[in-house]
Amino acid sequence: MEPVLTIALAGNPNAGKTTLFNHLTGARQHVGNYPGITVEQKEGYCLHQGKEVRVIDLPGTYSLTAYSVEELVARDFLINERPDVVVDVVDSSNLERNLYLSCQFLELGVPLVIALNMIDVAEKRGVTINAEKLSARLGVPVVPIIARSGKGVEEMLDAVLAVAAAGIRPQPAFLSYGADLDQALTDMTPDITACADLTAVYPQRWLGVKLLENDEQIVDKTMETYPEAGKRLIARCGTIGQHLQHTLGVYPEAVIADHRYGYIKSIIHQGVVTRKFVADRLYASDKIDKVVTHRVLGPLIMAGVLYCLYTFTFSYSSVPVEWLTEFFALVSKGVDMLLPDGPFKSLIISGVIDGVGGVFGFVPIIMFMFFGIAVLEDSGYLARVAFMMDRIFHFFGLHGSSVMPFIISGGIAGGCAVPGVMAARTLRSPKERMATLLTVPFMNCGAKLPVLTLLIGAFFSDHQARYMFLATLAAWLIALCVAKILRLTVLKGASTPFVMELPPYRFPTLKGLLIHTWERTWQYMKKAGTVILGISILIWAMMTYPQLPDNRAAHYTGLRQETQRTMAADEAGLAEALGRIKTEEAQEKLRNSFAGRIGVTLEQVSRWAGIDWRTNIALIGGFAAKEVIVSTLGTAYSLGEVDPEETVSLQERLNKDPNWNPVVALAVLAFIMFYSPCFVTVVCIARESGSWKWAAFSMLFNTIFAFVLAVAIYQIGALLYLR
Ligand code: GDP
Ligand code: MG
Repeated sequence: MEPVLTIALAGNPNAGKTTLFNHLTGARQHVGNYPGITVEQKEGYCLHQGKEVRVIDLPGTYSLTAYSVEELVARDFLINERPDVVVDVVDSSNLERNLYLSCQFLELGVPLVIALNMIDVAEKRGVTINAEKLSARLGVPVVPIIARSGKGVEEMLDAVLAVAAAGIRPQPAFLSYGADLDQALTDMTPDITACADLTAVYPQRWLGVKLLENDEQIVDKTMETYPEAGKRLIARCGTIGQHLQHTLGVYPEAVIADHRYGYIKSIIHQGVVTRKFVADRLYASDKIDKVVTHRVLGPLIMAGVLYCLYTFTFSYSSVPVEWLTEFFALVSKGVDMLLPDGPFKSLIISGVIDGVGGVFGFVPIIMFMFFGIAVLEDSGYLARVAFMMDRIFHFFGLHGSSVMPFIISGGIAGGCAVPGVMAARTLRSPKERMATLLTVPFMNCGAKLPVLTLLIGAFFSDHQARYMFLATLAAWLIALCVAKILRLTVLKGASTPFVMELPPYRFPTLKGLLIHTWERTWQYMKKAGTVILGISILIWAMMTYPQLPDNRAAHYTGLRQETQRTMAADEAGLAEALGRIKTEEAQEKLRNSFAGRIGVTLEQVSRWAGIDWRTNIALIGGFAAKEVIVSTLGTAYSLGEVDPEETVSLQERLNKDPNWNPVVALAVLAFIMFYSPCFVTVVCIARESGSWKWAAFSMLFNTIFAFVLAVAIYQIGALLYLR
């Protein structure tokens, strides 16, 4: 059925948009990205009164100014796509703050229905909201709902269809922003009217307000399309800005915000909200916060929570991991028996099965990890982490808003630096942003996790959870120290203050948790299935070709025949001798291959950190995507295997290999954690910083830094333990 209308769910972060979206669309949804950026775009369908309705879940925003990508995405969607109805999801337990955004929808003049969500929470706090009165004052339908249980959602959809049926685009609300700004807006009217292409899209007064707010996108658009009028308009904004600075000491943006809040307050205080309790009563959330964000207890609790997350992830996931490992070993064996020896078999076993199997083997761990993170996120605890980290971040010359990029990049483990780098767009100070961009790749992203798990499992298996926890701590420590160094040298400048809302604590819903977990795991699997398969095959080819020159191949054939002749009597001895020859040949083949040659050349230097040429091959592959490290190690070490009949896991192979020991493992771990970000991240850094110089800087700086660290670890470790 063709959808008859499109509705957009908009509102503050944590207001319950996604919960409502899931309730409306169920499984009939699709998650993608807005073109070119990593802000999620969720789209789904629902049926009401026999009509098919297309539902869009917009990113959460506090305002509609061009401060962050989320705000721009939401705004551009409302303006360019013109949904038939905008459903403004409002958190009733936090009405005043949420209506600030509603007010901006009214100013923009979109067809609006307000969904008063979480009335259950408001009620618990003794807050009653008179929806009819609020609706009358604002002039738009207001429907109380509980998105979590679906209560009121039918009535809300009725209201939505009624607004759509009326088909009228409401007049933009006319707010007063005080005498000075109102006068300026009047003065600007003739020039704004002249910008006909713009007023065709944006409401006239809204354009003026955005220019006064110094909204980057609108200013640029005006200057591009109407440079003459634009210049005059900007000049007028400049004089009024200066005037306000002199008289009130504030920017026009602040005056506009004050008037919006004033407008909301006046509405709320006209009998819309009644409170049962005295104002200073502490809510449950506040009580919890007193403890959880306490100066001393807070960080301790946080460390405890993260430690539990690791323990949970690694203890329960080990069972399905074993199943998967066994499954892939079985497939390998099957293929080994079915196919004749030759390059094709080698491609399937060493390129495809080992490569992809190595990556998919980690899916359970990643699922458990994401599930744990989803619990923290949905319960509201993650925001507390950001809040507490802000103090620390300031010390290191970063901003509280840097916390999210760090966490997204894998600050708790299992993220990706690509969205992390993009999330740094919310930072307004260019220097804090740059410092964030350059240090988020130090976090342990989801792709580094499998390597860390592999090495820790192979060499420090007794304390797996503890070592993973230490790895996270180390990543943070190094990232922050490097940020501080950058902020004291190439990125010198003052810090800016932190503003962020702490959402109330809530019990997460299982459905929400599962959807969150699945989305992220699926993204990982898609990457594993496509990109990594391709790279894995490419690297297999680099490791297989060029083949040994004829005389060397003949040498081994001769050797084999010779051995068979001389040792024919001793059956066990013969098998062993043949195995040795096979290994030697495989080693020489790998060393002779294209990848092997690069690895061997680099060994001249990497030797200082105890890293051998086979690991070098994997590290080079890791620049394409960190996931590739595990699969390449798998291929490199299975090609040179002593007894191919006996399938041993990569972990055991490394553990037994003479080139490896705990000190080397530690040096390699450090190198992998801190060397150049993967190719995609580098490209993103270039795009976000607007210059390839910074991207090149991050590649070189990180690699040199990581190498120095690895050398130090290996040299000191060797002195202490390897005698
Ligand atoms: P979004 O950021 O706007 O997408 O918000 P979410 O949909 O992710 O919701 C944030 C949290 O609020 C989740 O933990 C939801 O379970 C919870 N939530 C959403 N709606 C309600 C509601 O009506 N009542 C209660 N008690 N909790 C809700
Ligand atoms: Mg959401």
